[in-house]
Amino acid sequence: MAFENLSAKLQEVFKQLRGKGVLTEDDVKAAMREVKIALLEADVNFKIVKDFIKTVTDRAVGVEVLQGLNPGQQVIKIVNEELISLMGSTQSRLTYSNRPPTVYMMVGLQGAGKTTSSGKLAGQLRKQGRNPLLVACDIYRPAAIKQLQVVGKNYGIPVFEMGTEVSPVEISKKALEYAAEQHHDVVLIDTAGRLHINEELMQELLDIKATVRPQEVLLVVDAMTGQDAVTVAGSFDSQLGVDGIIMTKLDGDARGGAALSVRSVTNKPIKYIGMGEKMEDLEPFYPDRMASRILG
Ligand code: GDP
Repeated sequence: MAFENLSAKLQEVFKQLRGKGVLTEDDVKAAMREVKIALLEADVNFKIVKDFIKTVTDRAVGVEVLQGLNPGQQVIKIVNEELISLMGSTQSRLTYSNRPPTVYMMVGLQGAGKTTSSGKLAGQLRKQGRNPLLVACDIYRPAAIKQLQVVGKNYGIPVFEMGTEVSPVEISKKALEYAAEQHHDVVLIDTAGRLHINEELMQELLDIKATVRPQEVLLVVDAMTGQDAVTVAGSFDSQLGVDGIIMTKLDGDARGGAALSVRSVTNKPIKYIGMGEKMEDLEPFYPDRMASRILG
């Protein structure tokens, strides 16, 4: 489970803070050194850790805190507030187009979890009363089309595909026509990934984007790749433009640094997190709930 170690470490630091009736500036600084180490060990981006510690320390040594009642408790409250702010403050919801269908373009590196997340999201949208269509645009791996069909079948969502001989741009164009005929109000386009970002991949994604004019480009990144996920998010955003992030496999990531860093580094919100293999394991991301999870 994500943040296991960070959570344990912070709880240890906070236990000591709570135990003190009076706090000095040195107490706060000593505690913040521990928090800093814990965040770095959780693989949070170095610059973010530095800024975070400075902000919390400045606020905590403020007159009201150290001289107020329960100073330890107040320092913890400040850490909580700053963690929430780090992750974007409020929940960032999916947006819908005024003129259906709403098109979501799912992008990301191979193995990040695009196909499975597309299926889970489509399944959830269906439960909410929408009529989604999944579109198979990964023509380079025949297995990818098959995988999307399996996912679609599991959740009872139709899958539009044209095999591997037609270009992804053509497939997505035809998919939109099909969606209009069949009255699908949401279209999720599962694009091809690569092992690394390269020009060919980006050009293809830019071409699809120009064709389907998606409501949102949703970037799927794997939390277990840590700071690489943050770097990948930065590259996709600068080259393609990203509206929201789906961060998968947080259930398998004991550190959690990517989830804490990506918003501040890219300025793009996490909209969903993947916490496992089941449909409901793709959860909307709430910064305040995540902070509570971390602080235990
Ligand atoms: P794609 O290449 O980006 O389409 O990636 P896939 O959707 O095929 O996912 C790659 C692997 O990651 C699959 O085995 C998925 O079951 C797994 N996966 C995706 N999301 C999660 C998650 O949130 N938690 C866990 N534990 N596994 C996940």
